[in-house]
Amino acid sequence: MHNDYNEVKGKNYKGITVGKKSEKESKEKQDKGLSNKSKGNNKFIVIGIIVAIIAAIAVVSYKLDTNTIDTAFAAVDGIPCETQEYSTYHIHAHLDVFVNGQRNTVPAGIGIPQNKCLFWLHTHSSDGIIHIESPKERQFTLGEFVDIWKATGSPLPPSNGDPIIFVNGVPVTTKLQDTVLNAHDEIVLAYGGAPPQVPSFYQFAEGL
Ligand SMILES: [Zn+2]
Repeated sequence: MHNDYNEVKGKNYKGITVGKKSEKESKEKQDKGLSNKSKGNNKFIVIGIIVAIIAAIAVVSYKLDTNTIDTAFAAVDGIPCETQEYSTYHIHAHLDVFVNGQRNTVPAGIGIPQNKCLFWLHTHSSDGIIHIESPKERQFTLGEFVDIWKATGSPLPPSNGDPIIFVNGVPVTTKLQDTVLNAHDEIVLAYGGAPPQVPSFYQFAEGL
């Protein structure tokens, strides 16, 4: 067994360095059938496959170990709550909520339940800025933000009837779940009719 292994190792070494002639030789030997050497070669392949599988399992379990998803909080619309923030895709939009023409505060801590983890869409303070911080670049919607708002304990947005949605001062016909949040958008969510003055722009601080 041990000798077989050494022989095979030697043969492979020759095959790589010596070139065509020894490759041909080994092919001829394989063609002759299951000689001791080719049996050993098969063993070598099997060992290689086992090593590769063990390596793959090690990589996967390492990734699971370093996973930052906090499973104590259920994912919302497929978005997990994670114990780290991401800068890979980091944009901001601004949200104003009006109920019967009156401005309602967008609370701090939306998407940051019990300060334990962060959904990719969240608010750090009550300034209405939606932080989108995701490990990959993709589109996020107002509907996802509202769902995270509802799921993370802070007071719910009023939901009597469909809101009117304005993006950068322009009314849109898209539903919450179809209204995409783009960088520096000024979003207005108005319940019970449009407010007397619709904000169309938000001055983001430098760097946001
Ligand atoms: Zn941010």
